[in-house]
Amino acid sequence: MTLREHVNKWRACDGCGLATVRNLVVVFSPWKTDPQEDDPLILVVGEAPGKREDRTGDAFVGESGQILRRDILVPAGVKLGIITNVLGCRPPNNRDPLPAEIEACAGRLDELVEAVKPDGLLTVGRISTRVKAYHWRQHFDGRPTASITHPAALLRDGHPNAKTMRTLRAQVAKVKNLLKKLGVRPADDTTTEGCDHDWVQAGRWVLEDGGRMPFNACAKCGLLEG
Ligand code: URA
Repeated sequence: MTLREHVNKWRACDGCGLATVRNLVVVFSPWKTDPQEDDPLILVVGEAPGKREDRTGDAFVGESGQILRRDILVPAGVKLGIITNVLGCRPPNNRDPLPAEIEACAGRLDELVEAVKPDGLLTVGRISTRVKAYHWRQHFDGRPTASITHPAALLRDGHPNAKTMRTLRAQVAKVKNLLKKLGVRPADDTTTEGCDHDWVQAGRWVLEDGGRMPFNACAKCGLLEG
């Protein structure tokens, strides 16, 4: 299936109840900032379209999108991506996606992965990260993945302030680390050696016994520790 056929098919989707309340289906939006031939393609997956996305048909073009694009993808050095969401349609009042809606939209993500063959996956927010754990694990087995905090959580915390800026830097560090695993050397920072690290808490590893262990990321070079 070509990408155009994919878009035409899902734009007309009536696979769940959201079809009756949405305006436009947000299938995906391309992300390109002067990529070179060997830049990896990152699939960026958020939760669901918001009000602006529902109106325009593009992913992450509202306030959260500005933070994701301008303050995370650009400084991290993501040059080539496909931005989409777990759901193609906006849930009323931006409520959390229902399991049946996630299920109904899962085939769309499977098809997109097949069509674009991304090199790596970036999940944005807890819903997308959870869906990766139970649904896309097989797609991304062996391909690098990373998960970042949803920018909407920063906005809820009164972004910008000192705390949210540190959180933001930690998210950039995580994305840089994903690119590093894919062989990308950041232009402004080619080594972690000699970096006078600025450690910020970046997230929690999930341990085999189900426990969690906090880990840090260097906000300058992206090195992870812990
Ligand atoms: N939040 C998301 O998760 N996705 C969007 O496209 C916009 C806001």
